[in-house]
Amino acid sequence: MVLESNRSRKTARCLIGCGANIGARRQQLDQAIDMLRFMPGVQILRVSQFLETRPVGGPPGQPPYLNAACLIETTFEPIEVLDMLLAVENALQRSRETRWGPRTIDLDLLLYEDCVLATDRLQVPHPRMSTRRFVLEPAAEIASGLLHPLAQCTIGELLENILEPHLHIAVVGIPGSGAPEIADAIADVTLSRLIHSPAPLPLNGSDFLCDNKISPRGSPTEQLLHVTQEYATPLLESQWPNDPHGTVTDYWIEAIRVAAELNTEIKASGEFKEAFASIIQKTVPPHVVLLLNVNRQTLSERVAYRSHAAQQSDIFSDLVAVQAMTTTDQSITTLLTLQEHLAERLLKTQDNRSRPKAIIEIKSDDLGKAALDAVAAIEGIS
Ligand code: ADP
Ligand code: MG
Repeated sequence: MVLESNRSRKTARCLIGCGANIGARRQQLDQAIDMLRFMPGVQILRVSQFLETRPVGGPPGQPPYLNAACLIETTFEPIEVLDMLLAVENALQRSRETRWGPRTIDLDLLLYEDCVLATDRLQVPHPRMSTRRFVLEPAAEIASGLLHPLAQCTIGELLENILEPHLHIAVVGIPGSGAPEIADAIADVTLSRLIHSPAPLPLNGSDFLCDNKISPRGSPTEQLLHVTQEYATPLLESQWPNDPHGTVTDYWIEAIRVAAELNTEIKASGEFKEAFASIIQKTVPPHVVLLLNVNRQTLSERVAYRSHAAQQSDIFSDLVAVQAMTTTDQSITTLLTLQEHLAERLLKTQDNRSRPKAIIEIKSDDLGKAALDAVAAIEGIS
């Protein structure tokens, strides 16, 4: 009889991110790595140099971090790797009082082979790794060629992506998701150039087609291309400034195509596809996308708020612009369908040019918390 424990398990390569910002940081990192080294079922392949970095997110006034990365080979399953990392953190007196608060040691599972999983306890690849320089720099030193299964590019390419001399960061979400508000917050903190959407997003085509009957501007396709051109103008590669500050936009030009595809008539139009492709070819696609997601209840509340209470306010004014100003389930459903398709286009597209390398998903039902998450993701770039 073969005992279960004697069965040889397949090994997996994992990338681990390490950090410490209180206590004897170097010693704690060394101890953590040694504990991994002596763990049965784990083999350390490479350890990066230690890099001093400034704190990102969490309470103000934290001391600087020492960061490193480590490549291991293990027979453990992903959740067992997480348990092992938590055990090492506990052994080194890690406490968890505030989110992103100071810590004696932080061990994150960044990548586990090409595994993609999201449970309550564990998300792999680590959700914030692709915009964090303090994660990518040590990781690229030891595993530059390792593939990030969601970004479909290597760690080295992810690092190059955030080192772009004039970064384009797009906050992407349906009207009512808070994209303009969150783009404002990021631009404020990072002093980057801010570009708001030049025109309302043409929603699933039906409103658009209605308008068209009385509009002098031509066929639905021509109108959609007109909006595309308006969206493209501020993003033209030929006019992209050559200064060290980034640009934040609160729209993604591909959202027009996604919206158009929800309309069967336009979807079938070869003319639209071709003209759209030639317009966007001249634009700078986003390097980083913050993808916002709201639930049905939040969206209904925001639509109701815009319809009645807040005619004077600026907040969620993008809902007014797309005239999603009825509380009928129909308009909410239209927006939520668009949200689903947008996320799908961003996360699943195989087209390398239109898929940004770094995508961070943010729940924006609580706008204040979403702004903090967004700023923490963007601050980590530099
Ligand atoms: P952070 O690393 O984001 O600063 P913590 O170290 O306090 O935050 O981790 C909080 C929780 O994150 C852990 O208890 C763990 O369950 C969860 N978690 C989810 N995915 C991962 C991952 N890939 N690596 C490490 N922890 C993770
Ligand atoms: Mg952690």
